Amino acid sequence: MKHKNILLFLLISISGIRANASGKIKVVTTLTDLKSITEIIGGDLVEVSSIATGYQNPHFVDPKPSYIIKLSKADMFVTIGLDLENGWSPSLLNSSRNARIQKGAPGYVDASENISLLQVPNSISRQQGDIHIFGNPHYWLDPMRGKLIARNIYNGLLRISPENKNYFAKNLAAFIAKIDRQDKIWKNALAPYDGMKVIVYHNEWVYFEKHFGLKVVDFLEPKPGIPPTPSQLVKVINEVKANNIKLIITSPYFPTKSADVVARQTGAKVVVLATSVGAEDEIKDYFDLFDYDVHQIVNHLKP
Ligand SMILES: [Zn+2]
Repeated sequence: MKHKNILLFLLISISGIRANASGKIKVVTTLTDLKSITEIIGGDLVEVSSIATGYQNPHFVDPKPSYIIKLSKADMFVTIGLDLENGWSPSLLNSSRNARIQKGAPGYVDASENISLLQVPNSISRQQGDIHIFGNPHYWLDPMRGKLIARNIYNGLLRISPENKNYFAKNLAAFIAKIDRQDKIWKNALAPYDGMKVIVYHNEWVYFEKHFGLKVVDFLEPKPGIPPTPSQLVKVINEVKANNIKLIITSPYFPTKSADVVARQTGAKVVVLATSVGAEDEIKDYFDLFDYDVHQIVNHLKP
């Protein structure tokens, strides 16, 4: 009798393990950066797909309908939140009719939770056409805030799969340690340019700028989401000349025409930085993203 019980116990245990191994936690993220961090924290236990690619403007994604099906089967959904994906992700989430991943459900992860935001406007400073109405949503471009994103994702995985707490916790600790290690290298590489003034296309570098010691003087867009106007370009050209600015930072999804106009008039260089994992083939994870951007800046400033 005793033996039988042990055998039964073993059989149940083995089948339990099998069920776990075959059924990975299915995660859908809005951005590739969230996908990368989820893959690092979730390891072998997750299967992650991102709705946006790494070279799309995250404000204006035209998602494939196939993502409704993916969302309908997902155990977890991760979003940058604020108003970054407002134009496209809430309707997808709605159409999925998946109660497990709707706002407030255990499978819904808002990566902005507990993250201190920059440029939160009050009602007076809020302007028509602004697409950053809850504060600047491009916070994943600061590796320190990346650690908080990882913790939010960890908390989400814990709600769904509490039995794997130790595994997720180990991955989270490794992620945080690697960010801190790499950050020293990134900061070292940019140290000679501390306080350097730059012009950027869209207001999406404020967290990156603050962390790495650059100083954004102005934007090619007169307001976030409003394409450059001739009068804005004249203003920027004057600022570049007055401040002897060497660098104009833009992103893969913006036309280079207006940045090129400023460069031709002033001698400043245009550098296209990646804002997300996958913007270039070599940017395979969240660490590569900063490797790439730091290298691009350093290379463009070489005499
Ligand atoms: Zn933006």
